[in-house]
Amino acid sequence: SPELVRAAGLIREIPDYPEPGILFRDITPLLTDAAALKATTEALLAPFEGTFDVVAGIEARGFILAGAAAIAAGVGFVPIRKAGKLPRPAASVDYALEYGTATIEMHDDLPAGTRMLLIDDVLATGGTLAAGRQLVEQVGCTVSGISVLFEIEGLGGRELIGDLHTVFHS
Ligand code: 5GP
Repeated sequence: SPELVRAAGLIREIPDYPEPGILFRDITPLLTDAAALKATTEALLAPFEGTFDVVAGIEARGFILAGAAAIAAGVGFVPIRKAGKLPRPAASVDYALEYGTATIEMHDDLPAGTRMLLIDDVLATGGTLAAGRQLVEQVGCTVSGISVLFEIEGLGGRELIGDLHTVFHS
Protein backbone atom coordinates (compact mmCIF):
# COMPACT_ATOMS: atom_id res chain seq x y z
CA SER A 1 0.00 0.00 0.00
CA PRO A 2 1.10 3.63 -0.48
CA GLU A 3 1.07 4.07 3.30
CA LEU A 4 3.54 1.21 3.75
CA VAL A 5 5.78 2.55 0.99
CA ARG A 6 5.84 5.89 2.78
CA ALA A 7 6.51 4.16 6.12
CA ALA A 8 9.47 2.27 4.64
CA GLY A 9 10.89 5.59 3.45
CA LEU A 10 10.98 6.86 7.02
CA ILE A 11 13.55 4.28 8.12
CA ARG A 12 16.96 5.95 8.08
CA GLU A 13 20.41 4.49 7.69
CA ILE A 14 23.02 5.49 10.26
CA PRO A 15 26.59 4.59 9.27
CA ASP A 16 29.05 3.33 11.88
CA TYR A 17 26.50 2.66 14.61
CA PRO A 18 26.82 1.00 17.08
CA GLU A 19 30.32 0.20 15.78
CA PRO A 20 32.50 1.33 12.86
CA GLY A 21 31.53 -0.49 9.65
CA ILE A 22 27.92 -1.21 10.70
CA LEU A 23 25.07 0.44 8.82
CA PHE A 24 22.28 0.69 11.38
CA ARG A 25 18.65 0.96 10.25
CA ASP A 26 16.96 3.42 12.60
CA ILE A 27 13.20 2.87 12.82
CA THR A 28 12.47 5.70 15.28
CA PRO A 29 11.19 8.13 12.58
CA LEU A 30 8.65 5.46 11.56
CA LEU A 31 7.55 5.02 15.19
CA THR A 32 7.09 8.77 15.57
CA ASP A 33 4.76 9.00 12.56
CA ALA A 34 1.19 8.10 13.58
CA ALA A 35 -0.02 6.82 10.19
CA ALA A 36 3.18 4.88 9.54
CA LEU A 37 3.06 3.26 12.98
CA LYS A 38 -0.56 2.21 12.46
CA ALA A 39 -0.05 0.84 8.93
CA THR A 40 3.08 -1.01 9.98
CA THR A 41 1.45 -2.54 13.05
CA GLU A 42 -1.49 -3.75 10.96
CA ALA A 43 0.88 -5.19 8.35
CA LEU A 44 2.81 -7.13 11.02
CA LEU A 45 -0.48 -8.81 11.98
CA ALA A 46 -2.17 -9.22 8.60
CA PRO A 47 -1.17 -12.81 7.69
CA PHE A 48 -1.80 -14.15 11.20
CA GLU A 49 -5.39 -13.14 11.95
CA GLY A 50 -7.09 -15.72 14.17
CA THR A 51 -3.96 -17.85 14.58
CA PHE A 52 -2.62 -16.62 17.94
CA ASP A 53 -3.74 -16.03 21.54
CA VAL A 54 -1.07 -13.50 22.57
CA VAL A 55 1.72 -11.45 21.03
CA ALA A 56 5.27 -11.93 22.36
CA GLY A 57 7.84 -9.18 21.82
CA ILE A 58 11.60 -9.21 22.20
CA GLU A 59 13.26 -6.43 24.23
CA ALA A 60 13.66 -3.64 23.40
CA ARG A 61 12.40 -2.46 20.00
CA GLY A 62 10.25 -5.57 19.70
CA PHE A 63 8.31 -4.40 22.78
CA ILE A 64 7.13 -1.28 20.98
CA LEU A 65 5.82 -3.09 17.93
CA ALA A 66 4.48 -6.12 19.79
CA GLY A 67 2.70 -3.90 22.32
CA ALA A 68 1.04 -1.93 19.54
CA ALA A 69 0.17 -5.16 17.71
CA ALA A 70 -1.34 -6.73 20.83
CA ILE A 71 -3.68 -3.78 21.28
CA ALA A 72 -4.58 -3.73 17.58
CA ALA A 73 -5.34 -7.47 17.65
CA GLY A 74 -7.21 -7.33 20.96
CA VAL A 75 -4.91 -9.80 22.72
CA GLY A 76 -2.38 -9.64 25.54
CA PHE A 77 1.37 -9.07 25.45
CA VAL A 78 4.19 -11.32 26.68
CA PRO A 79 7.68 -9.86 27.24
CA ILE A 80 10.83 -11.74 26.25
CA ARG A 81 13.59 -9.94 28.13
CA LYS A 82 17.33 -9.77 28.39
CA ALA A 83 18.81 -11.76 31.28
CA GLY A 84 18.24 -10.45 34.78
CA LYS A 85 15.26 -8.20 34.05
CA LEU A 86 12.30 -10.46 34.82
CA PRO A 87 11.31 -11.07 38.46
CA ARG A 88 10.52 -14.76 37.99
CA PRO A 89 12.25 -16.07 34.87
CA ALA A 90 11.11 -19.60 34.12
CA ALA A 91 13.08 -20.28 31.00
CA SER A 92 16.30 -18.94 29.60
CA VAL A 93 18.14 -19.40 26.31
CA ASP A 94 21.74 -18.44 25.44
CA TYR A 95 22.55 -17.52 21.87
CA ALA A 96 25.49 -16.29 19.83
CA LEU A 97 25.98 -12.66 18.92
CA GLU A 98 28.49 -11.43 16.35
CA TYR A 99 30.92 -11.11 19.25
CA GLY A 100 30.13 -13.08 22.39
CA THR A 101 26.79 -14.38 23.63
CA ALA A 102 23.50 -13.09 25.01
CA THR A 103 20.72 -14.56 27.11
CA ILE A 104 16.99 -13.95 26.94
CA GLU A 105 14.35 -15.02 29.44
CA MET A 106 10.63 -15.48 29.76
CA HIS A 107 7.98 -16.17 32.39
CA ASP A 108 5.79 -19.26 32.15
CA ASP A 109 2.50 -17.98 33.50
CA LEU A 110 0.43 -18.92 30.45
CA PRO A 111 -1.29 -22.28 29.89
CA ALA A 112 0.61 -24.90 27.88
CA GLY A 113 -0.31 -24.69 24.24
CA THR A 114 -0.91 -20.94 24.22
CA ARG A 115 -0.33 -19.75 20.64
CA MET A 116 2.11 -16.88 20.41
CA LEU A 117 2.84 -14.53 17.55
CA LEU A 118 6.51 -13.56 17.89
CA ILE A 119 7.43 -10.00 16.85
CA ASP A 120 10.73 -8.13 16.58
CA ASP A 121 11.84 -5.13 14.56
CA VAL A 122 14.65 -6.56 12.42
CA LEU A 123 16.00 -9.96 11.41
CA ALA A 124 19.78 -9.99 10.96
CA THR A 125 21.57 -13.30 11.70
CA GLY A 126 18.33 -14.68 13.14
CA GLY A 127 19.98 -15.58 16.43
CA THR A 128 17.61 -13.45 18.50
CA LEU A 129 14.40 -14.78 16.95
CA ALA A 130 15.64 -18.37 16.96
CA ALA A 131 16.34 -18.02 20.69
CA GLY A 132 12.91 -16.42 21.19
CA ARG A 133 11.23 -19.30 19.43
CA GLN A 134 13.18 -21.82 21.54
CA LEU A 135 12.10 -19.98 24.68
CA VAL A 136 8.41 -20.06 23.76
CA GLU A 137 8.67 -23.79 23.12
CA GLN A 138 10.59 -24.33 26.38
CA VAL A 139 7.67 -22.92 28.38
CA GLY A 140 5.27 -25.25 26.57
CA CYS A 141 3.72 -22.69 24.27
CA THR A 142 3.47 -22.67 20.47
CA VAL A 143 4.84 -20.16 17.95
CA SER A 144 2.05 -19.45 15.48
CA GLY A 145 4.21 -17.14 13.44
CA ILE A 146 7.20 -14.82 13.32
CA SER A 147 6.73 -11.28 12.06
CA VAL A 148 9.33 -8.52 11.60
CA LEU A 149 9.57 -5.18 9.80
CA PHE A 150 12.38 -6.31 7.54
CA GLU A 151 15.33 -8.60 7.05
CA ILE A 152 18.95 -7.58 6.59
CA GLU A 153 19.87 -9.95 3.80
CA GLY A 154 23.04 -12.00 3.45
CA LEU A 155 23.44 -12.81 7.15
CA GLY A 156 21.69 -16.19 7.08
CA GLY A 157 18.68 -15.14 9.12
CA ARG A 158 16.07 -16.47 6.73
CA GLU A 159 17.84 -19.83 6.52
CA LEU A 160 17.93 -20.11 10.30
CA ILE A 161 14.34 -19.02 10.92
CA GLY A 162 12.59 -20.54 7.92
CA ASP A 163 9.03 -19.32 7.59
CA LEU A 164 8.86 -15.64 8.42
CA HIS A 165 6.71 -12.63 7.55
CA THR A 166 8.43 -9.34 6.65
CA VAL A 167 6.47 -6.10 6.24
CA PHE A 168 9.09 -4.37 4.07
CA HIS A 169 10.91 -6.27 1.35
CA SER A 170 14.35 -5.19 0.26
P1 5GP B 1 20.06 -11.04 14.98
O1 5GP B 1 19.93 -11.73 16.27
O2 5GP B 1 19.00 -11.47 13.97
O3 5GP B 1 21.43 -11.05 14.41
O4 5GP B 1 19.82 -9.51 15.26
C1 5GP B 1 18.56 -9.02 15.36
C2 5GP B 1 18.45 -8.13 16.55
O5 5GP B 1 19.40 -7.06 16.48
C3 5GP B 1 17.07 -7.52 16.60
O6 5GP B 1 16.57 -7.64 17.91
C4 5GP B 1 17.27 -6.08 16.21
O7 5GP B 1 16.59 -5.23 17.09
C5 5GP B 1 18.76 -5.82 16.28
N1 5GP B 1 19.32 -5.21 15.06
C6 5GP B 1 20.37 -5.66 14.35
N2 5GP B 1 20.66 -4.82 13.35
C7 5GP B 1 19.76 -3.81 13.41
C8 5GP B 1 19.54 -2.63 12.63
O8 5GP B 1 20.24 -2.29 11.66
N3 5GP B 1 18.49 -1.86 13.00
C9 5GP B 1 17.69 -2.17 14.05
N4 5GP B 1 16.67 -1.36 14.32
N5 5GP B 1 17.89 -3.26 14.80
C10 5GP B 1 18.91 -4.08 14.49
